[in-house]
Amino acid sequence: MYDFIIIGGGTSGLSAAMYAARLGLKTLALAEMPGGLITTTNLVENWPGIKSISGPDLAMSVYEHAKASGAEIRNEYVKKLEKAGEIFKVNTAKNVYEGKSLLIATGSKHKNLGVPGEKELENKGVSYCALCDGAFFKGKIVCVVGGGDTAAKEALFLSEHASKVYLILRRDILRAEPINAERVKRNEKIDVLYKSEVEEILGTGKVEKIRFKKTEGKFSGKEIPMDGIFLAVGQTPQTDISKDLGVELNDRGEIKIGRKSDTNVPGVFAAGDCTDTGFKQAITGAGEAVIASYYAYHYVNTKAAF
Ligand code: NAP
Repeated sequence: MYDFIIIGGGTSGLSAAMYAARLGLKTLALAEMPGGLITTTNLVENWPGIKSISGPDLAMSVYEHAKASGAEIRNEYVKKLEKAGEIFKVNTAKNVYEGKSLLIATGSKHKNLGVPGEKELENKGVSYCALCDGAFFKGKIVCVVGGGDTAAKEALFLSEHASKVYLILRRDILRAEPINAERVKRNEKIDVLYKSEVEEILGTGKVEKIRFKKTEGKFSGKEIPMDGIFLAVGQTPQTDISKDLGVELNDRGEIKIGRKSDTNVPGVFAAGDCTDTGFKQAITGAGEAVIASYYAYHYVNTKAAF
């Protein structure tokens, strides 16, 4: 029997594991592949105490910290959650684990653009991760679709490999962190196409060109040659598993949490990108996660806080 079972091995889940183990809770973190979405980011500059680090290195250091604190981490995919009285049962393909409290830190996954050619040419020039695939495009022409911070960072990373990077966004403003928006502006390899949308990705066996919609941008209604297209059009929360326990979600499918990172189900906490927090960063997820650990400690030991 565990005191605290964490579902998810991203920076939120592993921060919770580190903190809960230090509080003396018998802690288990379950993730098919620990690391989470941060492993697709090449540069993290907003984690306190570390001026600059790659996403994979940050994930590894949080993982090692959790292990060193005494948390157990297993590479298992959670299929189903159940409640039997006051005990939670966590079902993976191999085992059923029992816990007195739970943290759901299942994160989010990338959204699709939903245009013809996207599915057919995935991994044949269509990618969702510049860090993973960018090096294949040395000297090539690529584009990034999206107007948020992820898109800006993907474009900046790709400019280190590609000969030309188009950043395609449908608004007239790039809504990245100001420091990244400024870096994009200064980068001579990046051409920002405002008020522009991709209608179709074309190619036989690999991406060869993209077709623009008739929007306002300079390639409106045209086709242009392209070797790779990187999609950074936002994330969607992975919260299906929480429905097993009747955890309340908002209309975007995010888990509703309170100031204690608690959900509507006593003993079930949530943190990170799967929650209804508006400002989603690795550091805010980690903060929610350690708050959850602290109140899980109270829940398990006294139930007094509830
Ligand atoms: P985001 O801020 O949700 O931006 C998504 C972008 O994709 C928006 O520009 C949106 O356009 C565009 N988009 C959505 N659907 C589209 C479509 N069908 N066609 C064309 N464009 C489309 O996503 P994000 O940049 O991935 O950031 C997600 C969250 O992660 C944010 O809260 C961000 O702060 C956070 N983040 C954190 C870190 C970190 O911790 N260091 C790093 C990166 C991101 P519209 O604006 O027109 O809707």
